[in-house]
Amino acid sequence: MSVESTIRQISGAVLPQAVRFGLRRVLFSGDRKRCPLCGSAVRTFIAHGGSAPVLERRQVVGGMIRLDDACPACHGGDRARLKMLYLEQVLLTDGRRQRILHVAPEFGLYQRLKRETNIDYVATDLDQTRYRHIPELVTADLTDLPFETASFDVVICSHVLEHVPDDRKAMSEICRVLAPAGTALLMVPLATDGLGTDEDLTVTSPRERDDRYGQYDHLRLYGREDFAARLESVGFEVSYFNGFDQFPALADQLWLNPRENLIVARPRASVG
Ligand SMILES: [Zn+2]
Repeated sequence: MSVESTIRQISGAVLPQAVRFGLRRVLFSGDRKRCPLCGSAVRTFIAHGGSAPVLERRQVVGGMIRLDDACPACHGGDRARLKMLYLEQVLLTDGRRQRILHVAPEFGLYQRLKRETNIDYVATDLDQTRYRHIPELVTADLTDLPFETASFDVVICSHVLEHVPDDRKAMSEICRVLAPAGTALLMVPLATDGLGTDEDLTVTSPRERDDRYGQYDHLRLYGREDFAARLESVGFEVSYFNGFDQFPALADQLWLNPRENLIVARPRASVG
C-alpha cells in the first residue's frame, strides 16, 4: 500500500479536508514541482485515473491512468489544470467581474479560483458533507438548481454528468442558469473508439457498472459524439478547446493530456 493511500485511509474519516490538505502538503513537500492550482511545492506528482479494463479497451479519454499527473497535496490533475488554463487565458482576461458556478468543486481548482479577486464564486453539490471546507457551498440537485435563470457567466462541471440519472435535465439546467453570453466548461470520461454511448439505467450493480462504464458509480459511458449531441439537444452550441492548439508552451508546462479537450458549451441563441 502506498504512503498516499495509507494517509488517505487513516485521515479521511476523522480530519477535515483543509487539515488533510495541510498534512499532505507537509508530507510531500519538496522542490521538484510546484502545483499551479494550490501552489504547493512538492517532490513528486502522483498517478491518477482508473484501472477498469474498459477504459483502455474503449480508449476513454479522461479515464485512463496518467503517471505523474496529480498534485499529492490538492489531488488536482490535468483536467483541473486544463480548466485553469482556459479560465486564465480565455475567459477571465478582460478584467470584467464574472459570476462562476462550480459544480462538485475540485479542491485544487477551488484553491486557484480563491486567489481571483474579480469573480463572484458559488459552489454547489448534492452532498454537502464532501465539501465542508467550502463555506459558500450551496446544497442542490443539478437537475433542479435553486438559481435564477441567466445568473452565471461561467459554469464549471467536470466528471459529474456521468453520475446523474437524468443527465439531459442537468444539462438543460446548466444552460438555463447561464447568461445568454455565458460559457459552460464541461468534462466527462469520453469513449473515443467510435462505438457510441453505453447506457442502461437498469444496471445497478457496482461491479457491472465498473465493467461497462469504468467506475462503480458511473451510470453510463459516453461516446464523444453522443455527448456533444445531448448538449446540443438541450440548446447548447458545442466547441472543443485543446490547450496544445492555442497555448502549446503553457499546455506542455502544465503537463496537460494532448488527447483531452475541454468541452466548451454556450447557449445557442448567443452564438452568432
Ligand atoms: Zn495542488
